[in-house]
Amino acid sequence: MSKESSQGQKRLKELGLNEKSAWERLDAREKERVFAFCEGYKDFLTRAKTEREAIEAALELAGRRGFKSLDGIKGPEPGTKFYLEWRGKVALLGVWGQAPLEKGLHLVGAHVDAPRLDLKPQPLYEEAGLAMFKTHYYGGIKKYQWTALPLALHGVVILHDGRKINIKIGEDPGDPVLAISDLLPHLAKDQMKKPLEEAFSGDDLNLVIGNLPYADEEVKEKVKLAILDQLHRQYGLVEEDFISAELELVPAGPARDLGLDRSMIGAYGQDDRVCAYTALQAILELERPERTALVLLVDKEEIGSTGNTGAQSRFLALAVTELAGRAGSADILSVSRVLASSRAISADVTAALDPTYEGVYDKRNVALLGRGVVLSKYSGSRGKYEANDASAEFMGYLRRLFNAAGVIWQTGELGKVDAGGGGTIAKYLAYFGLDVADCGPALLSMHAPLEIASKVDVYQAYRAYSAFLKA
Ligand SMILES: [Zn+2]
Repeated sequence: MSKESSQGQKRLKELGLNEKSAWERLDAREKERVFAFCEGYKDFLTRAKTEREAIEAALELAGRRGFKSLDGIKGPEPGTKFYLEWRGKVALLGVWGQAPLEKGLHLVGAHVDAPRLDLKPQPLYEEAGLAMFKTHYYGGIKKYQWTALPLALHGVVILHDGRKINIKIGEDPGDPVLAISDLLPHLAKDQMKKPLEEAFSGDDLNLVIGNLPYADEEVKEKVKLAILDQLHRQYGLVEEDFISAELELVPAGPARDLGLDRSMIGAYGQDDRVCAYTALQAILELERPERTALVLLVDKEEIGSTGNTGAQSRFLALAVTELAGRAGSADILSVSRVLASSRAISADVTAALDPTYEGVYDKRNVALLGRGVVLSKYSGSRGKYEANDASAEFMGYLRRLFNAAGVIWQTGELGKVDAGGGGTIAKYLAYFGLDVADCGPALLSMHAPLEIASKVDVYQAYRAYSAFLKA
């Protein structure tokens, strides 16, 4: 027999925020669904470690669910599933809605790039009997986290004759891995005294790749030549080909369950492939949405959404012009109206409270791991600088939508007001005049080679995007 609630307890339930763990709010069947959903997510993370691999995997999943290239699609038939792909690094997936396009679109935008180390254009050298690669880091990393760690090399090379080859070394259990050496503690007395930012410089992130000399006494750099020789025999590659290559170093190995209770996922690149995957799953299942539903997967968020594949490019405007043309009019006024009357979710991760570093968070406004997907009004830094500050009206809309759909959500700021900050693609979507807010799971160890997400939050992100795309 349960105990009667007191008057105050009842009143608190009516008036206060629900601060229960999302796990406690699910029944046994729903928990099973959470675990099953995250199996697919782990597969995606294991397979999609670069922006190109993520787009390829997304389009393959979409193809299997009946999505067709927009090129072959003529009229605005509700329920039509389509995609557009750009440079192998951006994709837009859509389902045509029942309402006319000028009623606006519902768009979920996530990014598929992640912090990593890129090879420099002239990476290969020999020193101290070792062949080495020079790297240039991409995105916001703590450099020390990337040393003494098994790394895999992923990417493409355009050979001198224009042929494109794909390279992936370090993922199969039989593959070799590569690693950045670190100084032994015995000789690190001076290094250990330095502030972290100075202890590791970008140009110290050099990769150890070979030690076998080429068998010829006449050659000076024998180990470097042996590596070149091997790459040529394997891929037809010569040294100049590195200049027309995008070779990325990422932590080797698959995404794993994390925790003795398997409640979490430990993997590289969850920022922001957790949102890319959950948004993708939400649109793949969509049948006949009210408004035309779109999922945008972009590149280059980690370096400011720049370039022709980032959120600041004209790709979205071009894609919406293509849609508007099929719906009747692609003139600038029609397209601008469609965009301005749209709603968007900037699907990106935020920080979860790390109990070891409590001091950098506002404990009353930070997200917790396992308390559901996080809805954030703004990001930015200091006095909301560079933030898209979503309107009260739009926050109210999303809140009602999530509550009606039974989505378990929380709110959260990245950290203390002056502790630092960060941005997302929200402000670049807002540029079109549409309403947009940030929404995604919270992570521990964001931008580290192994990021931690709670499975229940991953699932709630999927449910939130699903509810939004259907509305
Ligand atoms: Zn992100």
